[in-house]
Formats: sequence, structure tokens, C-alpha cells
Amino acid sequence: MASNLLFRILSRELLNIPLPSLFIPVGYATIAIVTTLVCTAKFTADVVFRPNPPTITQPETYDFIIVGGGSAGAVVANRLSENARWKVLLLEAGDTPLILNSIPGLLSGNMYHKDTDWNYFSVPQKNCSYTSLNQKIGLSRGKSLGGSSNLNFMIYQRGNPKDYDNWANITGDKSWNYKNLLKYFKISEDYHGNFPDRQYHGSGGPLTISKLRNEPLVKQWVAAAEELGFNITDPNAEQTSTFSPIDTTTKNGQRDSTYNAFLRNAMNRKNLNVVRYAVVDKILMSGKNATGVVYIRHGKKIEVQASKEIILCAGVFGSPSILQRSGIGPRHLLESLKIPVVHDLPGVGEGLQDHVMTVAGPILLNDSVSFMFDDIISPGTLLKYARKRLGPLTFIVVSGVGFFSTSEPKNPDWPNICVFLSPMGMHASFAQDIARLFALERKLLEPYYNHFKGHHATQVFINLGRPESRGSVKIKSSDPDVPPDIDPNYYSDAGGKDIRAMIEG
Ligand SMILES: Cc1cc2nc3c(=O)[nH]c(=O)nc-3n(C[C@H](O)[C@H](O)[C@H](O)COP(=O)(O)OP(=O)(O)OC[C@H]3O[C@@H](n4cnc5c(N)ncnc54)[C@H](O)[C@@H]3O)c2cc1C
Repeated sequence: MASNLLFRILSRELLNIPLPSLFIPVGYATIAIVTTLVCTAKFTADVVFRPNPPTITQPETYDFIIVGGGSAGAVVANRLSENARWKVLLLEAGDTPLILNSIPGLLSGNMYHKDTDWNYFSVPQKNCSYTSLNQKIGLSRGKSLGGSSNLNFMIYQRGNPKDYDNWANITGDKSWNYKNLLKYFKISEDYHGNFPDRQYHGSGGPLTISKLRNEPLVKQWVAAAEELGFNITDPNAEQTSTFSPIDTTTKNGQRDSTYNAFLRNAMNRKNLNVVRYAVVDKILMSGKNATGVVYIRHGKKIEVQASKEIILCAGVFGSPSILQRSGIGPRHLLESLKIPVVHDLPGVGEGLQDHVMTVAGPILLNDSVSFMFDDIISPGTLLKYARKRLGPLTFIVVSGVGFFSTSEPKNPDWPNICVFLSPMGMHASFAQDIARLFALERKLLEPYYNHFKGHHATQVFINLGRPESRGSVKIKSSDPDVPPDIDPNYYSDAGGKDIRAMIEG
């Protein structure tokens, strides 16, 4: 009896001994090895058990073909296949996500693996990214069903109502306005977040929105904002200048990707065919009408036809690349690559906007209140997650959010700056972790961050929400395996408004 009790006390103590700081780099290596092994096994199984259809003279016809099964494609496939009379095809370059992707705390370790991430890099940036190798910024993008929703930070953040109203103005189509879109946000949600107001949030929908289970320093973040005169309101409602805790796309302590929320169950429907490892090469055109697509799967080119629509959901880099390979884009680019021009549309691949971000900090703290990996990751915390989905592995790097407007353009109802609180202390491998998270050069960060090693601290991630700068996506070859030239062209606006806003932010 006494020995049993002693054993339980001892094992509890052992479970709480922090893992050595070496654990984090070892953890990254383990995730990389497991990802490669599991993906290789899944790919081999797909080749063996889901072979390509035999070559036939007449391509198969679907009502709708959706290209890309990521955040958008998973939702579109679900909604369209609700109508049992429609035959829907979803083509996705990757496979289903891995279980590792479902663990929020592994988000940084899950990025940049070639089997699950397109792993793009920008062209060298002229005005920033000095801590990236050759000033080429890492642009992680999910390559699996659920797409980038398997890799992202899980921050549940709608756009500002004025963004959607602006879309309605630009397109001349009222259905894009916020009032109309709000009902779609609501029917998508099963809301368990910080601001349960039925005017703005829904229940019983497929996507679960939850509060963070682990939110260090949020109370202080909100109190500090209140002291400065900011409102503490729902950033997913009218989104004026406001600060708050973060709502997340998580369910029961796990990532709720769009694969999980929208696609997994829908894949049982007989009228929805989901084809994995299908890399779409181009859209087939008859005059200026899209009639089908050609995709490459396990080394074979396959053609399929659509009787109603082809819906491009291949993401911000994939969709313009497919259009350009199909002969739809700027004439000079297509001709330079010897691609026959089907439709000379100079705007395809232009107008790229991205919310460029600055990591400000560390802001050193006197109290031991930040998220210090060296002290809190122990065998017990791993067990706690495995058993109850609680503890540090539910943490997503950030915990608080804030929106405000800089002095130009001053518009408190349409903020241009979004800040996130990252309550991370200066643990031993901080420089390596932040380098991995944002694909930066570790050697350049270490001299700076190592100086603060062991201090409790926070960082603030400052995002420029409405940049003036415009970039581009341009294919370099008609071969879909060759990545496009991606140029976010940060801080390139002629008036220099972007850099002024970032400094003020
Ligand atoms: C690291 C990171 C963190 C982020 N954090 C957040 C966050 O916290 N909150 C938030 O709201 N947003 C966040 N985002 C942004 C958000 O995830 C994306 O805006 C969103 O996922 C884009 O959805 P999408 O459907 O356009 O593209 P994706 O989700 O990227 O889907 C595109 C799909 O198309 C497939 N595809 C591409 N080319 C082809 C082809 N030729 N043939 C077949 N399939 C193809 C891809 O494999 C992919 O599955 C983050 C993004 C990243 C990368």
C-alpha cells in the first residue's frame, strides 16, 4: 500500500520534471521524420489501392469540378454535393492531413515539409526581410485536403465589414456585402468563443469556434488596452478599434481544419468524388468557355469535363498559376513561355496583397508569467494533452488580438493595423523557434535573442491589414512542378504609406 503510494507520488514528480531544452529541436526532427514516413506510406498505398482509371476515349463528365481541396475547396465541395442530383469532382494535389496537424502546439513543427506544404519562397524583397536568406521570404501553403487550414495559426478572424462592402462596390454585386455574407458566416459556425452574441454568431454549424484553452497574459493584454481607452469587443462583429482574447478554429483542444469540419463526412456522399494526388495542369477552353481540366496523377495525364462550372480554389498562388498555364493571363508573359494565348487578361497574377508583419520584442517582464517552454514542457504536459486535450500543446503562439487605425488613413471603423500578443518567454531555443516559424535565418537571430535568454517576456506581432503595396504571381514555365515567381513586393508603394503605418503600429 505504502509502496504503491510512494510510486504514484514519485511518478507524478517525474512527470513534472521539465524536458531539457534540447527537446524542442529533437521534437522538430521527430515531426519531420514521422511526416516523411507517414506521407511515403500513404502515397504508396494510394498508388496501389487507388490506381488511375484505365485510359478511355471519352473523358468523364461532372456537373462541377473543384480545383484544390483547401480551405475554400472543402467548403464548396461540401455545399455543392449537398444536392444529390449534382455530380461533383474535387481534385487535390495532396492527401488527407496527418494527425500531427491536429495538435495546435505543433503548428511550427508541422510547417515546411515538402509532402504537406508547397513550401514557396518569394523572390528577393527589396525593402525588407533582412533576416531571411537572400531576402526571400518563406511562404508556407498547405498541400492536403483542408489546405492551409491544416497549417495556419487557427486564429478565427473575419474581415472587416467595410472590406466586404468594398468588394460589393468593386464588383457591382450586392451579394458580397457584409449584411448578406453575415448569414453565411453564421451558418458555418458552431460558436463557443469569447463573444456569444447570436446577432453575429451561429450554433450547430460545421466549423467549431472555441476560446483558447491556454491563454497566458490575455487578462493583462485586455486590461492594458482598456487603460489606453480601447473598446473590448468582438473582433468578428463590427470590428472597430478593439482589443480582445483570440477565438480559434479549434474543437476539443484540436485544430478544426476545413477538411475536418466540412469535407470528412461529405466524402461519404456518392455524388462527390475526391481525387487525391491530382495536380491540375490546366483548364481546357472552348473559345472563352472553360469546359474541362487536365490533371496529372501518378505520372499520367487525365482529362475530365464539366457540364456546369469549374471552380478554382487552388489558393492565392495556385489559382493564378493554373490560369496562366491555361493561356489566360498577360499576353507578354504567356508568349515569353510559348503558351498559346486564349484570353489576354493582364490582371491575372497581379494585385497580390499580403499583410506584412513585424515581430516587435522581446518586451521583458519582471514577473514569471509568460509561456516559458523550458519550464512547462514535461512528460506530464504531453500526457495531459494525450488524455484530456489540455495544457501547453493547445497553445497557438498568440493569445490576444487588437485592431486600431494609424493617423493616415485615420478611420477607427476600418482599422489598418492588427496586433497579436505572443506571450512567449525567452526560452533557450527561442531564436531557433522563431526562425523556424517564419522561415528566417537562425544565425542572424541568435546574437539578438540569445542576449535575453531565460527572461520572461512577450512579443507583439504587428500586421499591416490594408497595404497599399501590390505584388504579383508569375509562372516561370508551363510545367506545373516548377514553382511560380512570387513577389509580395512589400513596402513598395510610391507614397511610403505602408512603412509609415508599420512604424506607427
Ligand atoms: C502559416 C500560415 C498561418 C496562417 N494563419 C492564419 C490564421 O491564423 N487565421 C486565418 O484566418 N488565416 C490564416 N492564414 C491564412 C489562411 O490559412 C489562408 O488564407 C486560407 O487557408 C486560404 O484558403 P484557400 O482555400 O484560398 O487556399 P488553401 O487553403 O491554401 O488551399 C489551396 C488548395 O489547393 C491545392 N492546390 C494548389 N494547386 C493545385 C493544383 N495545381 N492542383 C491541385 N490542387 C492544388 C493545395 O494543395 C491546397 O490544398 C495562415 C496561412 C498560413 C500559411
